Amino acid sequence: MRQLLSVVIPSYNEEGLIHLTSKTLSSLLEESNIPYELIFVDDGSVDRTWEHIHEETCQNSSVKGVNFSRNFGKEAAIYAGLLYSSGDCCVVIDCDLQHPPEKIIEMYHLWQQGYEIVEGIKRSRGDESFAHTFAARCFYNILSRITDIDMSKASDFKLLDRKAVNALLNMKEKNAFFRALSSWIGFTSTTIEFDVRERTIGESKWSTWSLIKYAASNITSFSSAPMQIVSLLGILMMILSIILGGVALYQKVTGIALEGFTTVIIINLFTGSIIMMSLGIIGYYISKIYEEIQGRPKYIVKKTCGKLKHDTEKSD
Ligand code: UDP
Ligand code: MG
Repeated sequence: MRQLLSVVIPSYNEEGLIHLTSKTLSSLLEESNIPYELIFVDDGSVDRTWEHIHEETCQNSSVKGVNFSRNFGKEAAIYAGLLYSSGDCCVVIDCDLQHPPEKIIEMYHLWQQGYEIVEGIKRSRGDESFAHTFAARCFYNILSRITDIDMSKASDFKLLDRKAVNALLNMKEKNAFFRALSSWIGFTSTTIEFDVRERTIGESKWSTWSLIKYAASNITSFSSAPMQIVSLLGILMMILSIILGGVALYQKVTGIALEGFTTVIIINLFTGSIIMMSLGIIGYYISKIYEEIQGRPKYIVKKTCGKLKHDTEKSD
């Protein structure tokens, strides 16, 4: 029996790509004889993305749309798409066709063979600037080391079985990091390599600053290691103060104590900056806890179109 495949497509200001992506995916899946639904999640676009999604839903009943009340970020869009999906398995793919759509067929066949998660991993990162590649490498190295999940080549392009989708949807955390959580939940998984294509229309939605924020938020949502740096710095400062204290006392006793004004200033500045940095790290975690306990939804849905699983507008 052929089983339904849901394709979740987060889209933010992609007016130039909706029709192309929808046509490419639907013709590909129809040719391969796979029953499908395409769920476009408009992440609060300010251009005509939603109108284009709406037009697609009128032309093809397998296309559906979810519209956010504002921009909530790609992670939120992915979760909304998964919530509204009704397939036996779901594929998450970027709207810009940088993830090769043909790979969906391979993923689907692997799923039919019994794999519950098929991860798309990047063979090459496509056309990215040196700084971007370097920053991405640093971020994933840190993350892989502290979480024990290798994510240096991970992407959001993956297929999830219904069981895995439900496991992800049952997680209550607001700061969910899809790429890492889909490994964390376990299940029988396999990987499939792909080359990142060049974006044909529009431009990447990530600025350097938004990437830094994204990295900090994901590292802290997955690990408390930065907090341990605070304790480590504390121990380091203690050792240093014992040594310097000993030296100062010795000099006092032997009567060769220097004026030592420079030393005092340096030590003061050093301790001051370490304390500030540590407070910053702790403060960041407190703000994350605050965000979690506020219990605000991950996203707010303004409207939907096409026949979706949750026809009543729901935001979770
Ligand atoms: N995206 C989104 N919300 C955002 C930013 C991006 O839904 O706030 C979507 C975007 O429409 C695209 C995908 O996430 O489908 C990847 O974005 P982009 O191509 O800008 O990222 P890159 O490929 O440069 O990592
Ligand atoms: Mg892209």
